[in-house]
Amino acid sequence: MKMPINESYVRPVIVWFRRDLRLKDNLALHAAAECRQPVICIYVREHGAPHAGALGAAQAWWLHHSLAALDQSLKDAGNRLILLSGDPHDVLEHLIEQTGATAVYWNRRYAADGIAVDTRIKSRLRKKGVDAHSFAGFLMHEPGKLLTKQDRHYSVFTPFWRAFEAGFHPLDPLPAPKTIAAPDTFPAGEALDHWNLLPKKPNWARGFSDHWTPGEKGALARLDDFLHEAIAGYKQGRDQPAKSGTSRLSPHLAMGELSPHRIWHATAPLFDASQGHDAASFRRELVWREFSWHMMFHRPDMASVNLDRRFDAFEWDTEKKHLSAWQRGMTGYPIVDAGMRELWQTGFMHNRVRMIVASFLIKDLLIDWRVGERWFRDTLVDIDCANNAMNWQWVAGCGADASPWFRIFNPVKQGEAFDADGAYVRRHCPELARLPEKFIHRPFEAPLNMLEEAGVTLGKTYPAPIVAHDKARDRALRAFKSLSKTNAS
Ligand code: FAD
Repeated sequence: MKMPINESYVRPVIVWFRRDLRLKDNLALHAAAECRQPVICIYVREHGAPHAGALGAAQAWWLHHSLAALDQSLKDAGNRLILLSGDPHDVLEHLIEQTGATAVYWNRRYAADGIAVDTRIKSRLRKKGVDAHSFAGFLMHEPGKLLTKQDRHYSVFTPFWRAFEAGFHPLDPLPAPKTIAAPDTFPAGEALDHWNLLPKKPNWARGFSDHWTPGEKGALARLDDFLHEAIAGYKQGRDQPAKSGTSRLSPHLAMGELSPHRIWHATAPLFDASQGHDAASFRRELVWREFSWHMMFHRPDMASVNLDRRFDAFEWDTEKKHLSAWQRGMTGYPIVDAGMRELWQTGFMHNRVRMIVASFLIKDLLIDWRVGERWFRDTLVDIDCANNAMNWQWVAGCGADASPWFRIFNPVKQGEAFDADGAYVRRHCPELARLPEKFIHRPFEAPLNMLEEAGVTLGKTYPAPIVAHDKARDRALRAFKSLSKTNAS
């Protein structure tokens, strides 16, 4: 329906929400709300969404709830969210024609495909006399501005971190706009339920809402809980998967339900208290996120191409049975299986365990890191294309500032070091729950009578190891070594 654009009609502006589904500290929304025109808030389901914007199934679940929460917050502020689908340029052009909007506001994105779409739209809108205003907000430091003395991007974390801290003066986070003037008539939008973002048959995400509250309110509550409870002891506790020792803010950050500036700012008072070292350690992790995005900005092919091109010659194993056992959490290594099942049940996996399962896939099973990257992309609620690619390449040894290829985690020793009493394994692999501590990470070494007493039959109630770690390790070392020799010769 076209709006009656006559003399009394006040032309609106458009705010295009993307991965910034929040009202607070949202520069684009704030600027639009200040301009004294009605505001039309939209979210576009982009057809042919670029890789970086493409949604995995678990994150689609999150998006559904996050959009519903954003719509409610906008309603509380006297406005609402309009859902539209299509090529974003066509969608905007049509909406501008329909409403006579004079400007479009958005927060910038940093993957190459998103940048290309936005640049094209900006120039086309301007040619038509429509203003296009873009803002920062997804990152604390915009990529392209933080460079070495030689004007190159950083590919090693520590100097990046130093440069980041030296030049960083975070602005105070903005409050939510007091009012967001609504148009007299809202343009028609689509129904969220028709987007089919939620799984139905089967509803494998049934358990997700026990763990998560998508949306800005959920994000702020999570930050508050973390600052009041878990951050004390973060430095040590962040490596123990059985504890709630980390913030679990990653899915909220991935959807932009709160800004990294706000988190950074909220940790400032801790530096005056006894928790300064915990807060510093936590901030360092936030800067890893920045580092990933700066890398992604400069190496847009990072999710599909080995940063170290020597790895292109690597002959990966394509054994489907092994991949399927890894995906289902049935490898016979309890810490790996607990991690993969945590992922399946909750859409999340603890960072230490992500490293262990990734190392197992790449080095014990010799399966290409990109296969794991794709599985995570579909199953994590916090999927973030830069963080995911950076970390997979890091574990494989082919990435920026990566772990050396000969560093191969022993899944038993990792389990014993970081889940000493086996609480994490018992939670996610209940069939092993009655095993004594000594064997919880190595059931295949437990005496038969002990297994019997714990109700475990290897190969029946719980799998025997799909590979012997020591042999797999030797095979991996030989394979990786021959790779470096081939390339050296
Ligand atoms: P906290 O410890 O509370 O950290 C706070 C924030 O810092 C996180 O929310 C995250 O934004 C950032 N952060 C923490 N660790 C890292 C890291 N290693 N690299 C980059 N940023 C970090 N993180 C994602 O957000 N999305 C992904 O898709 C993703 N894929 C990963 C794949 C692999 C193989 C590995 C090893 C790690 C991956 N990570 C990913 C990084 C890390 O595991 C998660 O960010 C972290 O577990 C999220 O939990 P948290 O919010 O409680 O973290």
